[in-house]
Amino acid sequence: MKNEATLVIIKPDGLKKSLTGNILSRLSETKLKIIGARVVKVDEELARKHYSHLQDKPFFPELVKYITGQLHGENRVMALVYWGREAISKVRQIAGATNPEEADPVSVRGAYGRILTSGLYENVIHASSSPDEAEREIKLWFEPDEIVYDLYRTEEKESGGIRKRAWK
Ligand code: UDP
Ligand code: MG
Repeated sequence: MKNEATLVIIKPDGLKKSLTGNILSRLSETKLKIIGARVVKVDEELARKHYSHLQDKPFFPELVKYITGQLHGENRVMALVYWGREAISKVRQIAGATNPEEADPVSVRGAYGRILTSGLYENVIHASSSPDEAEREIKLWFEPDEIVYDLYRTEEKESGGIRKRAWK
């Protein structure tokens, strides 16, 4: 099986509930490597791009409020890139099913998620679900120089006289 990268986001409820250490410990069971990590203040634009596949769903406005932190008074998330064999399925396994009520109770979502009265699944973490999705998401959340491995093709770009690497 080949190595792959996946994006994990500890969502605002995870930070609000001080679950960061616990989640990182759970993910370390996979023996995958962390190759990028950022604390991010998520704006509306990033939220809409990240969840663009769900833009026609009735819960989309609430989902944008959730990931931007407006539901928790907590405008931070933690974004991580994990790398290694079968990274995507290993991380999804620990995350658990999307619906926290259906998630295995020992998974992160099963243990700490809940369904809001609005119907939104408040499920503590995000995890990429396919290699294509992981690539799109990692490129959205990270610059090439914020990841220690060269995962995808890059190009040199110049802005304001400064040359820097960008995703191609
Ligand atoms: N979501 C929701 N209700 C749904 C489907 C999704 O509230 O019926 C939310 C939930 O927070 C989920 C996110 O939208 O994590 C992204 O949905 P997706 O289908 O991509 O699930 P995931 O990949 O996160 O398991
Ligand atoms: Mg998804």
